Amino acid sequence: MDVLLNILFWIVEFDYIWFFQTTFSALSPNTIVSILVWYFFLVWIALIIWVTKDITNRSSSLFVQIFSILLILLWTPFSIIIYLLIRPSKTLFEKYYDSTYEEEYYDDVEENITKCSHCGFKIWADYKYCPNCKTCLKRECIECKAILPEWLKVCPYCGKDQIKKEVVEEVKVEEIIPEIIKTPEVDTKGEETLESK
Ligand SMILES: [Zn+2]
Ligand SMILES: [Zn+2]
Repeated sequence: MDVLLNILFWIVEFDYIWFFQTTFSALSPNTIVSILVWYFFLVWIALIIWVTKDITNRSSSLFVQIFSILLILLWTPFSIIIYLLIRPSKTLFEKYYDSTYEEEYYDDVEENITKCSHCGFKIWADYKYCPNCKTCLKRECIECKAILPEWLKVCPYCGKDQIKKEVVEEVKVEEIIPEIIKTPEVDTKGEETLESK
């Protein structure tokens, strides 16, 4: 701990201005220029390596790869700005990940879409009634109360025969709906005629 504190104090209290003044005044102008040139080339080489790595991650096209490397190789390190502007926005891994995610999504959608057994209208698999023809698509198993597609003849959970229930429900759905619509009309008409009389 004491050693760490000592190092910290040394870093904070170090006279940086004095250090740079003395080192730069000790160097001849020629050496400074050659240091800057070396620094420039080191940055350039580092950028060439980085662009090579980056473009091979982003494009599998040989033409794009060679073009990008030549851009940084011939046009000095400043062409890195051009490269950053024109490079593909996504890496090959990101593209692959996105496409598989999309495929999975559409597989899920396809799995969940079915057709109404009565009119053929496209519906989600969990719909209980067809929004087009009002056919009942799901009903409870008469034995175990599991929710089953309307067209199953036998319950896959308990093995109970469903045919009798199906006949009863078809009659119910077709007869009850017109009845509900008709009865209030009859009532109001009946009342109106009674009042008027
Ligand atoms: Zn339908
Ligand atoms: Zn059942």
